[in-house]
Formats: sequence, C-alpha cells, structure tokens
Amino acid sequence: MGSSFVRLTGHFKAGNGTEDFDVWFDVDEELAGGFSESGAPWLIAAIPYGFELGGTIAIERPTDAMLLENTAAFAHVFRRWYKDLKPFEVIADKEIVDPGGEKAFAFFSGGIDSLHTATRYTSLGGTDQVGSVDELLLIWGFDIELDSPSEFAALQKQSEDFAARLGVPLRVMATNIRRPGTFWTNRWGPLCHALGKAACALALEKRYKKAIWAAGYRSDRSVVEGSHPMTDHYLSSSGLAMVYDGADSGRIDKIAFLSRFPWMLEDIHVCWRGASSRNCGKCPKCLRTEIALELTGMMARCNSLPRVSLERIRKAYCGEPAERSYFTEMAEYAKKIGRSDMYMALCESLTRSRHRAPIVNYLSRFEKTPGLWRAGRSIRHMLGA
Ligand SMILES: [Zn+2]
Repeated sequence: MGSSFVRLTGHFKAGNGTEDFDVWFDVDEELAGGFSESGAPWLIAAIPYGFELGGTIAIERPTDAMLLENTAAFAHVFRRWYKDLKPFEVIADKEIVDPGGEKAFAFFSGGIDSLHTATRYTSLGGTDQVGSVDELLLIWGFDIELDSPSEFAALQKQSEDFAARLGVPLRVMATNIRRPGTFWTNRWGPLCHALGKAACALALEKRYKKAIWAAGYRSDRSVVEGSHPMTDHYLSSSGLAMVYDGADSGRIDKIAFLSRFPWMLEDIHVCWRGASSRNCGKCPKCLRTEIALELTGMMARCNSLPRVSLERIRKAYCGEPAERSYFTEMAEYAKKIGRSDMYMALCESLTRSRHRAPIVNYLSRFEKTPGLWRAGRSIRHMLGA
C-alpha cells in the first residue's frame, strides 16, 4: 500500500448477541473514486454469516437486482453441496445498479493460475491471448495476513515487477473481510474464497466492469470449492461481470504455457502456509507445483522451490478431493511423456492415500475435540497427512 490510502467501511450489526463490527477495504487515493456506493460489497460480505447463522440479511443501500438474484442461486447451489449451511433471507432496496465502471482487471496472487491468466489477458500471451485487462489487483488480507506488512511488501514488489513486464499496472487493496472465528476464516477455501474476491471487486464497482479470476482446476476435474466454474459467475452484477478464466487448462498445461517465459518461473510464489511471500517447500501446494515443474522439465529454472524426490512423492498424502484431482492429472501426464518413475510414485501416493483416507477423516474428528486435539494431530502427522 502507498503512504496515503482511503477506506470504504461497512458497519455490521449482528443479531446473535455478538458485538457489532466493521468490514473495510483500503485502496490508494487514485482508486478511491471507484468505490461502490451500493449495497453490493456488503451483501457479499454478509453471505457467510447468513450461511452460518441463518435469519435475515438487511442491506441498507440500494442493491443490484441481478446480483440479488444471482446470489440467491449461488446460495442454493452451496446449500446443496454443504448440508449444514442455513437458509437466509435478504432484504434490500432492489434496483438495477450499473455504476459505470469501465476498466477490466485480473486478480493476481503470484501463483501458477494467476500468472497464466494475467499473461493471456495481455499481448504477451501471443496467439493464446483471450482478452485484455487494464490492470492487475493484488489483495492483502487473503493469503497474507494484515499483521505481516513486510511479507506483503515483498510479494507486492515481486508482483509489481511481473506486472511491469506485462505492461500493466499493479493495484493493491487491503481488507479485513476474513474475520477470525467465522466462516470467513474457518471455511475460506471450501466456501468463501470466491465471495472474498467478489466483495473486493464490487467494492470498486465504479471503476471496474469486468473482473477476471483464474480457474484453480480444469473444468472436468473441478471439485466442490468456494471458487467453482459453476458458481463464480453468480457473483456478477448488472455493472460488473465476474469471468472464470482458464478452465480449459490443467496445472501441467499452465506450466507448459508459462515455460515460454522462463523468467516467470524463477521466483514463483505458490505457498501460503507461512502466510508469507516465500514458499515453504513442504506443503501440498508447494509439492504439487514441484512435481509439475519436474514433469515439464522446468524445475532447474525455478529458484524458489526445492527439487522433489520420488520418495517424497510416494509418501505424500493426497486424500483431499482437490489433491487427488491434481495428482491424478499429473500421473496421467507422467505416463503420457514416459516418466514411468514419476508415474509409479504418483500412483503409489494415490493408492496409499486412498487406504489412509478413512482413518485420517476419523482422526480429524478428534482435532475438534478439546484435549484429544494434540493426539489427533500427532497421529495424522505420523500418517503423513
Ligand atoms: Zn508451501
């Protein structure tokens, strides 16, 4: 963030006896003219509380008719996927709100998906270009916490360098929307990820008409997640379209595309385990990127991740649907290119994980039980999960 920023604040009154709280979005002065004056960002910010608590969400600002209808459909789908989500009602002054935003932007995080998308929305994408963006937007408060300014500054610097090579400016927004102890943090990946992005985009709905966000999965391999090809577009309003980009490409396809630009892979940032600007080299996200880099022959180009061993792949746990999807895709690719060593190691991981999944799921219940939590965690650790 620059030295002078401007804040858009929404005041939330909770009806369940908890204290009132504020949700805010900060941007540099230059962007503040694009701040929303409608109920759109606050409706999105309130949806996880609706899922968690049920009841009524009352928005005290005119709210776009299309967004109201879309978010009702979004909620229907997620309640079908997750049976514990509560129904809620939305009360708002329904209007067609088109604030006249004119720019297109792509969310940027520094990872494989966002590098792939950002590149294909500039002329650097060459024959693979699918559109144009005016700028990239990096969010502080999603993956890097607000109390880690030096880590965010490092990621911002990396991202600015990347954006400069693409020929588009990098914009930055900070937000406290991920409130601790709520679905916003407890179910960020499975439920709230896309809502977070949509709220940030809609907070600048007078500036933007199109938000491009990178697909996490190829469409035929997508798993139930907060950001999903079937539901993300339901966060669009009359004036701001949410575009889910790159659903035709898997992780391997994306790295193969990025290998045309070796400088992009040198300092790639994929990991949020330490909530920092550096990769831990150990977590599932780091591991699957290391495997994909190895399979595409790009590992030697990357300075920010260690080379993966076959032993580590064999022992890796991939019991979660998302990880199984990635490992299956990479095993198929390893077989296709004749890397039988990698293929065998990935298959062994998939088989072992399938056998371990029931006990890991069982033990995860202990993590929620006071006193037994440490036992559950340590046994899971022994299982490599
Ligand atoms: Zn990591």
